[in-house]
Amino acid sequence: MSNKSNYEYLLSDLTKLKGVGTKTTNLLKKKKINNIFDLLWKLPKSYTDRSHSTKIKDLKIGENQTITIIPQKYSFPRVRNLPNKVSCTDETGEIDCIFFNSYEGYVRKILPLKKEITISGKIGFFRNKYQLTNPKYISEDSSLIKQKHNTYSLTEGISEKIYNKIINQIIKNLPTLNEWHSENILDKFGNIKWNDAIVELHKPENIGNYKKNFYQRLAFDEIFSTFLVNSEIRKKIKKIKKKSKVVDKAKQNKILKKLEFTLTKDQLKTLEEINNDLSSTNKMFRLLQGDVGSGKTIVSLLAAYNAINSGFQVAFMAPTEILARQHFNLAKKLFSNQINIQLISGKSEYKTKKEILKKLADNNIDIIFGTHAIFQKKVFFKNLGLIVIDEQHKFGVNQRKRLSDKGGKDCDVLLMTATPIPRTLTMTLYGDMDLSIIREKPKSRKPIKTYSKLESKIDDVIKFIKKEIKSGNQIFWVCPLIEESKKLDHSSAVKKFEYLNKIFPNQVSLLHGKTDLEEKEIILDNFLKKKFQILVSTTIIEVGIDFPNANVIIIENANKFGLSQLHQLRGRVGRGDKDSTCILMFKSNLSKNAKKRINTLKESADGFYISEEDMKIRGFGDILGFKQSGIKNFKLADPIHNSDLFLLAEKEIRRIELDNTDISKYKPLIKLYDRADIINDIA
Ligand code: ADP
Ligand code: MG
Repeated sequence: MSNKSNYEYLLSDLTKLKGVGTKTTNLLKKKKINNIFDLLWKLPKSYTDRSHSTKIKDLKIGENQTITIIPQKYSFPRVRNLPNKVSCTDETGEIDCIFFNSYEGYVRKILPLKKEITISGKIGFFRNKYQLTNPKYISEDSSLIKQKHNTYSLTEGISEKIYNKIINQIIKNLPTLNEWHSENILDKFGNIKWNDAIVELHKPENIGNYKKNFYQRLAFDEIFSTFLVNSEIRKKIKKIKKKSKVVDKAKQNKILKKLEFTLTKDQLKTLEEINNDLSSTNKMFRLLQGDVGSGKTIVSLLAAYNAINSGFQVAFMAPTEILARQHFNLAKKLFSNQINIQLISGKSEYKTKKEILKKLADNNIDIIFGTHAIFQKKVFFKNLGLIVIDEQHKFGVNQRKRLSDKGGKDCDVLLMTATPIPRTLTMTLYGDMDLSIIREKPKSRKPIKTYSKLESKIDDVIKFIKKEIKSGNQIFWVCPLIEESKKLDHSSAVKKFEYLNKIFPNQVSLLHGKTDLEEKEIILDNFLKKKFQILVSTTIIEVGIDFPNANVIIIENANKFGLSQLHQLRGRVGRGDKDSTCILMFKSNLSKNAKKRINTLKESADGFYISEEDMKIRGFGDILGFKQSGIKNFKLADPIHNSDLFLLAEKEIRRIELDNTDISKYKPLIKLYDRADIINDIA
């Protein structure tokens, strides 16, 4: 038996449970249920109430019913395919229990003659007699049968009965944990204790009682533990002492004067926040968040420039080579002869690479641009002071933490993402970092005109494109996303390419999931150089690349995309100073709801607002593929319905940070709910 006050019981292996062997354990492991705690979130979907018993004469055919009977006679035919049979009675009538594919010994054991047995199951009727076929609920102890039996969504190979048995067992042995929450928080949930809440959660009559205090408390525990871990990571990183950098404002302003535009208020504000971090003696771990086209690059390049002028090297990492090259070119243009700028490419020759590595180690390169290749083992910097990472919203907390360790203690870290997220998710996804947000877009930016169009009207679209090409513009054509099959995705893109190529010979290129990396870079580069006019692609073009000359995007089968995704796709155009257009194509007329959704896009260019609307419609797991980022999926909490709990948790975290509360009392919570590798670091 478990030590009742010890949470370790909950983390122990499944084999610790009675009646669970390696077979069941392995089946559960396949479902990512690895320990007893994981099983706590296996919740009943519905239940069958077997608690009321009837007499045989009152049985209703076709219904699940419970009766207490006495087995009177066995019949074990020696003929294959004929079932074993046990005739049973109560004082009001007769019923046969029928067993297909059963052993005689088993039948004798579960239905011993002349004993009172309680059975439950769906009642049948055959040859003028009631019968129960392969009854599963049989016991001499009627209390085991006469209860509510939960139904679960079943894992292959594990029956409902086993689930009932093991989950009941866990509930019975739940340890009483010391309360971790403050009184103020507990008060909000009617002071219900964690283990009482778990008990309530598993009561079948509580299925769907999302508003009840037990549910809210448990949902809060989940949210709070995530926030707490994030907050601890942030605190820990900020405690790291580093050599402060001296920001040379005069030099910075000289560059600002060289720009063709003036920075927006938000760009200036975020640059200031970053500069403050650079000049502080605490390590920076900051996320620069801003919608597509909000102008993050220039902010990060200025920060890099400041770090360099303070005597440090900078590593600037982009998700693709073409984006790395784009940033590299911009840096050369801005900083010309004042600093040493280098691009490292996967394609660079061995000799060139070796030279670059040597220069990095000798401090003869001030800033290097590249993909993740910059962080390979062989790369050493003499004096790395800042890492900038562009477009990496898909990095999870763990990956980010590893990165922040990478540069050594004097190295600041700045991440950038063009993926606005709903307010309630900020702490969930990015709570481990300080946040700088660019909300306002450059004033010169014209709104992207957004239209919807039926696919049958494709000729109108073609006419429009012809006109655009004549005026020297370029077009993205995004092919339908076919969720069911990558193959279909691919073939529809190929077909579209062939179709457009007939109309616009030699002006179309195709990009799809099977295009190899090198070819892809060439195609994108050619598009950038205006060597062709229409780029047909599946959804693989990354955000971030600046194609100032592309100002039309066609998105087919637009109803397959979420709003945020459409907004991201749309953000690939409208970066220059020309008017730009986004055409959303649909197979059939839009439903009223779909129209409403699309209107959000037509009316707003604010990615933050759109992400909120998107989440309301699609739920949070889905938005922008956050599922892939390895962020924790909540089991009970829901950012839409529990937004109040997210805000409450955020408030509580701020209080803990401000009061410098000792967090050791939260240790069981963190150990139970969160990722072990992070905990080892902080607990
Ligand atoms: P993102 O935030 O998506 O990374 P970029 O940094 O690529 O955006 O900027 C998009 C375009 O906007 C670039 O061509 C850039 O030169 C331009 N830009 C940046 N800041 C401003 C500004 N304040 N005014 C006008 N254009 C700007
Ligand atoms: Mg960018």
